[in-house]
Amino acid sequence: MTKSSQPLPSSSNPVSGNSGSSSTALAPNFRPPVVAVMGHVDHGKTTLLDKIRSTSVAAKEVGGISQRLTASTITYQNHQITFIDTPGHAAFVTMRSRGGQAADLALLIVSATEGVKPQTLEALGLIRAAQLPLIVVLTKTDLPEADVRRVKEDLLKEGVLLEGLGGDVVCLEVSGVSGAGIGPLLEMINLTADMLELKQDLISPYSGIVIESRLDPKKGPVALVIGKQGVLRVGQTVVAGSAAGKVKALTNADGKRVLTANPSIPVEILGFNNVPGAGQPIQVGEFSSAPATAKPESNIVLPTEGSRVLSLIVRADSEGVLEAIRESLLQLPEAGKRLSLLFLDTGDVTTSDVMLAHSSGALILAFAVKIPAAVTDFARQSQVEIYRFEIIYELTQAIEKAMIKMAEVDENTGIGRAQILKIFPLPSGDRVLGAKMISGRIKVNDPVRVLRDGIEVFSSRVKNLQIKEDKVSAVGNGVECGILLRGRTETKVDDILEVSKPSA
Ligand code: GDP
Repeated sequence: MTKSSQPLPSSSNPVSGNSGSSSTALAPNFRPPVVAVMGHVDHGKTTLLDKIRSTSVAAKEVGGISQRLTASTITYQNHQITFIDTPGHAAFVTMRSRGGQAADLALLIVSATEGVKPQTLEALGLIRAAQLPLIVVLTKTDLPEADVRRVKEDLLKEGVLLEGLGGDVVCLEVSGVSGAGIGPLLEMINLTADMLELKQDLISPYSGIVIESRLDPKKGPVALVIGKQGVLRVGQTVVAGSAAGKVKALTNADGKRVLTANPSIPVEILGFNNVPGAGQPIQVGEFSSAPATAKPESNIVLPTEGSRVLSLIVRADSEGVLEAIRESLLQLPEAGKRLSLLFLDTGDVTTSDVMLAHSSGALILAFAVKIPAAVTDFARQSQVEIYRFEIIYELTQAIEKAMIKMAEVDENTGIGRAQILKIFPLPSGDRVLGAKMISGRIKVNDPVRVLRDGIEVFSSRVKNLQIKEDKVSAVGNGVECGILLRGRTETKVDDILEVSKPSA
């Protein structure tokens, strides 16, 4: 490896910025690695990248926290490296997972003074789920309170098997302030990239991933993209999810206009007809209009019109990914009441998955796994829908959209459903049901069925409705209310009251 024989820079400016250039003069067959920089807030990601890029990003940040995921490219010992700077707040998990998907390897930044923190673990989970090669970087090692040994022990406890401590995960010590250790870090990134044998493909049509996007009031939709293969050129037609357009301009990470962008080089595209979703794959192609090219999986067709629960069978290529999918699905706002994860497993989609989906009215989600032709045929015959995904974020977005659609169907059909949360016995012997509307609306005098575990236990009619202390004639979706039924009242907490025939 020629680059390891070169002397390491010791200055505080070890690298040269070469952001966004499409130059291939340095290493023609080598695709630059895309490195996601992840870790707990304040552990020194920005300072380190700042030192590496020799810019002053940290000083410009509002409140000291990176608010946007940005990408830039540097050149070190004749090799380009692209960094994706992922923000550190808990609220940015999705953005961080996008960074993970677009990257070839990850740096887990851990402060040597603070050690492992919640977002360190979260980043670790994302790195594992994306199956990215990992380099641990201990920052702030220049401070007297730095305790490298303790932090390494913490990491070991989390299953990060460090080199020299029984494993092979490289752990490097740096100071983002003095620049110490940055040379060896960049050296290690290049070495890891060499081992990954990232090949530059300039011949295939361009494809990549949208890292972030926004609607600029003056310029219109702007998308920051990183290519995986092919050369992106001004004038080409590009498609990302439901957005498409002709590339009007490309701007590199230095803010300079460029005419082309090679794989792994981040560029901002102007020319989309609407804002493409971050995490979307982007491709070039000749397309007449954006809607026709919208990816079918982003528009999940509900198995039965008016169904209340979305049952899913999920197949993924690894346990880690399956776990990441499960977690992100369960975190969706409506998941508790609308999602049923019937069966999750690794490996290709099988005919028994299709049979299960057919008998239960479930959808099948295939994440980066194969769907054998015989299974596709069988699914078509059985009218079972199989949706393919390659990006977790897209999968969760599609499911979230489907659940929102379900909620709208509920609202529109006016099927009032309330869940009983608490029961208040009155001195009169009546019982007021403290309930929350989970769909549609309910009105005084409506006939209702009382459902327990989906089975009708009795039917009745609404006598009274109240919101807090006030009597009302109707209650809409999402509202908590008190319900008094006529006659029979042997309800239990968690029973569902369903309007059997909505009144006009
Ligand atoms: P981020 O939230 O992970 O991007 O963290 P920052 O880069 O904004 O760093 C948080 C604070 O730690 C800032 O005040 C930095 O100056 C300081 N800091 C970061 N890295 C180092 C380091 O290696 N040594 C010292 N002494 N301070 C550091």
